[in-house]
Amino acid sequence: MFEKLLIANRGEIALRIQRACRELGIKTVVVHSQADTEAKYVKLADESVCIGPAPSRDSYLNVPAIISAAEVTDAEAIHPGYGFLSENADFAERVEKSGFVFIGPRPESIRMMGDKVSAKDAMKKAGVPVVPGSEGALPDEPKEILRIARTIGYPVIVKAAGGGGGRGMRVVHTEAALLGAVTMTRSEAQAAFNNPNVYLEKFLENPRHIEIQVLADEHRNAVHLGERDCSMQRRHQKIIEEAPAPGIPRRAIDRIAQRCADACRKMNYRGAGTFEFLFENGEFYIIEMNTRVQVEHPITELITGIDIVQEQIRIACGEKLRFRQRDIRLQGHAIECRINAEDPFRFTPSPGRITAWHPPGGPGIRVDSHVYTNYFVPPNYDSMIAKVIAYGETREQAIRRMRIALSEMAVDGIRTNLPLHRELLTDAHFVQGGTPIHYLEQKLALRRA
Ligand code: ADP
Repeated sequence: MFEKLLIANRGEIALRIQRACRELGIKTVVVHSQADTEAKYVKLADESVCIGPAPSRDSYLNVPAIISAAEVTDAEAIHPGYGFLSENADFAERVEKSGFVFIGPRPESIRMMGDKVSAKDAMKKAGVPVVPGSEGALPDEPKEILRIARTIGYPVIVKAAGGGGGRGMRVVHTEAALLGAVTMTRSEAQAAFNNPNVYLEKFLENPRHIEIQVLADEHRNAVHLGERDCSMQRRHQKIIEEAPAPGIPRRAIDRIAQRCADACRKMNYRGAGTFEFLFENGEFYIIEMNTRVQVEHPITELITGIDIVQEQIRIACGEKLRFRQRDIRLQGHAIECRINAEDPFRFTPSPGRITAWHPPGGPGIRVDSHVYTNYFVPPNYDSMIAKVIAYGETREQAIRRMRIALSEMAVDGIRTNLPLHRELLTDAHFVQGGTPIHYLEQKLALRRA
């Protein structure tokens, strides 16, 4: 096992990784920006290195500064967390070329999954179902583009090969609008991602977001840890996640999840990963693979008893997976609410000093958070300040426990989306289960009207 690991991230995930390291007996180095100097998790680490001013590009995205921090502290491995540099193949390569272990997949895997056209192609070859669409990137000839769209059938969605974070996509309902949309998406994609390639997909009107968590080692062993339902979203940002997904037959999930594990073996994938699917009319269609730990990983940890972050570290160390598929049992139900520092209904960010922090507790409640009373939420980063996770033997029990947790929780000094979560946990459709990805936006639009 490594003796010392550097955490190239901030906030709750930096603390989460630190806890995993402590349990494994690994010393930790935390890098931080000037905005995070006073954070408690920075002081809790064995060592800390300030790598630059508050803006991410000068600190958490500053590759040379992170590599030097690893050099001066003698760290052996670097964990990138999620966001920031976690899915940057060039960073992974630089880490390895500098003689450190990157806690994640091989750079080639990250690169392949980062380009949506090559990712889709790899998925098809590995036997994972994709959304019907164009074969690879679109050609230039307008006639050919129109013909491809006709075979797919409207509505279609134009997507940039280099897109990410919900950007570089355009829905087209009629043939008359197609060529203009392709041209616009192309030029935006060139400007934003330095890659003009775009492709077409059938636009699914009312799907759910279902994702499969996998773990794969260097020795071609791969398992899946079941699914998560992340359909409660606003602007493609997940707000509530749960596992298992309500109302989908276990056999259907097992079949697709098994394909994901098989795909890992075929692609020689290493590390933790998530296959994200749209699910509509009983069919799964992959939209992308994330090659890192996800925000919502704790719900899977609660229903499997497996510590995903520790497994990432063991895998990076070259260890074999310690369990086979048949050893993995899904038990109970878990729900996660992402608590953001933002106005609960207008969604404007609300950074500032937290004057009182009362996290919930009790049976089945886990809170992953780096904040505390008097913590200052900096305006420079993502607004998530905590994840409240409830576990129950049944979905009903998990919901009841989450309601109690949200009612106990109090955060003063800044605004948070706690009122929205309290409302959603009593929403009749949520309680019934199985709402599609547009549900929350539609509910919010109704309220505005
Ligand atoms: P990104 O990498 O930018 O997150 P994704 O391919 O994961 O892009 O898609 C983001 C979101 O866009 C999906 O969660 C879904 O809401 C919507 N979307 C993408 N492709 C389709 C599609 N073919 N049909 C319907 N919605 C889609």
